[in-house]
Amino acid sequence: MKCELCFGELDAETLRCPSCGAKYTPVCVNCGRALAPGETLCPACGGEGLPGLDMTRQGLTEAGIKCFMPYAGDRVYDIYFGGNHDGGGWEFHNLRGYVREPPQPRVVLPALVEGRPIYGIWNEFFCVGDEFVPEKQEAAFARMMQIREIVVSNGVREAFTYAFFNCAGLETLELPRSMVSMKYDFYDLFMDGEEVMGNGVKKTPVTIRYRGTEEDWRRVAVTSRFQDYVAMGCIKMEYLGR
Ligand SMILES: [Zn+2]
Ligand SMILES: [Zn+2]
Repeated sequence: MKCELCFGELDAETLRCPSCGAKYTPVCVNCGRALAPGETLCPACGGEGLPGLDMTRQGLTEAGIKCFMPYAGDRVYDIYFGGNHDGGGWEFHNLRGYVREPPQPRVVLPALVEGRPIYGIWNEFFCVGDEFVPEKQEAAFARMMQIREIVVSNGVREAFTYAFFNCAGLETLELPRSMVSMKYDFYDLFMDGEEVMGNGVKKTPVTIRYRGTEEDWRRVAVTSRFQDYVAMGCIKMEYLGR
């Protein structure tokens, strides 16, 4: 497998990228559990383990990516993209998760933070609060226009309703086979197939590069509106296979 950050070939033994030093940890594509080094099948469900990008908190901070890591005592609950790193006070809502300025054209979302699997992409990852209001959307579109490609690493399971809201420049979204639910439906970008960008230009189609087969994708929960956009050609599905 190639490194999601720099396209270097991963060392199959250590799951490290010799080019950029990125670390990968196998994650079960069925249940999202992090596997031990060398484990290729999940001991809990028998699912296949695929390398998920495993970043440090420091690495995430440098990439401008925040995670919500709620904990109580020694227990860590499901981790989401969005919010803040320190979830002891449960501060979560109205905190943007992607804070890199300017936004990078290619955003890679890891599947683990320091060995702990990240469950999903929360609503306020790219946009928060006012940016959901139609009158403020144009400014949000302008800010997000720079993001062309989003890559979600192996292990992430869910994208919530507003996960990629206002990502007006998005051309490619790469999703892992571990996805079970894609609730974001692109309505903010395509509406009824009309011009919504405020500049007389229709949003170009978004290609979803799915790391699985068409049959695998049928098991992913999507909205009927998502399916309508596929039918209208707004969303182009590309199946990379297993
Ligand atoms: Zn690399
Ligand atoms: Zn499993």
